[in-house]
Amino acid sequence: MDLALLDDRLAAHGEPPFRSRQIWEWAARGADSYEQMTNLPVELRTALADEVPFSSLEPVREALARDGTAKALFETADGRPVETVLMRYRDGRRSLCLSSQSGCPLTCTFCATGRMKFGRNLTVSEILDQALHFRRSDAVNHAVFMGMGEPLMNLDNVLAACERLPELGIATSNTAISTVGWIPGIERMASEGPPARLALSLHASDDSLRSELMPVNERYPLPDVLAACLRWHEARRRQVFVEYLMLEGVNDRYEQALELAAALVPRKAFKLNLIPYNPTDAGFRGSGRDAIAAFRAVLEGRGVRSTVRLTRGRDIDAACGQLAARG
Ligand code: SF4
Repeated sequence: MDLALLDDRLAAHGEPPFRSRQIWEWAARGADSYEQMTNLPVELRTALADEVPFSSLEPVREALARDGTAKALFETADGRPVETVLMRYRDGRRSLCLSSQSGCPLTCTFCATGRMKFGRNLTVSEILDQALHFRRSDAVNHAVFMGMGEPLMNLDNVLAACERLPELGIATSNTAISTVGWIPGIERMASEGPPARLALSLHASDDSLRSELMPVNERYPLPDVLAACLRWHEARRRQVFVEYLMLEGVNDRYEQALELAAALVPRKAFKLNLIPYNPTDAGFRGSGRDAIAAFRAVLEGRGVRSTVRLTRGRDIDAACGQLAARG
C-alpha cells in the first residue's frame, strides 16, 4: 500500500500516529484487506478502503510452474509492468525475486528485461507490495533483488524496502541485492553498511566480452567493479555472491574458466554460483550439463568452489533473465 498516502489520510482523519504502524503490522502478517484489521475502528476501516488502495500494484496475471514457482505480473497505478517471482523449495525456503525498476535501462544483451522499454524506478511501496502479495499465501523467508531492473540505480528505495522486509519474515541476512556492477551503489553499500548481502552478476571475466554482453561494463570496467566488491567484503566481512550465466560457446570455454579463477581473488571474498541459462528470444543458448560440469572442474582445480543454481520456473518464463519475456 502507498504508505505516504496512508499517513496522509490517517492525519486527515485525526488518527493517532500509532495507527500507521498497526496497519502496516497487519499487512506484514499477510492480511489482505482493511476489513481484517479488527483493532481499527470500523468507520476508519471503511474510510481507508475508499481512500487508500490496499496495494499500489494491480495484479494482472499469475502463473504457476510445475515445480511450484509462481510468477506474478502487476501493473503500477500509472500502467507500468512489474514482475515478481516466488520460488518454493522442498526444504521450506520461500524465496522472492523482487523487481526494483519497471523495465531496465542497462540493456544487457542476454536479458529479456533489458529488451523492454525502461519505465522508471519503483517506489518503496511498489517494492514492498510485491512481497506482501506473496506473503498472503506463503511464509516468505528469503529475498533477492534480481527481478526487473538494476537495484543499485534505485538504492534509496531498495534499502528502505529492505528495512521493512524482516517484519514480513525475511531477515536482512537472507536478503541479497544483485548488481551488474553499478560502482556508486556498491560503494554506498560498503560505507553505509546495510546488512543485506551483495551479489555481482559477472558473466564474463574479460573486459571486452563483458562489454559486449553488458554495456554497463564500458562505464564501470570489471577490475574497478571487483575492487569495489572487495571493499564491500572488507567493510561488511561477508562473501560477495558472484553470479555467472553459462552461455554456450560464449563464456564457457576452458580458458575462460581459468580467467574467471584468476579474477576471483582472494578466494575467501567470493562465493561463485554458475547459472544455467534459460532461453529467451535474445539469441543465446545455455551451456549443456556436461559443459557446465567441465567448466566447474577447471575452477575446482584452481581452488574455486562453485555451486550450480537449480533452474526454477522455466516453463512459465520465471527463471533468471526471463522476466518480461512473454508475461
Ligand atoms: S540483467 Fe539486470 S541490469 Fe542487465 S538488463 Fe537485465 S535487469 Fe537490467
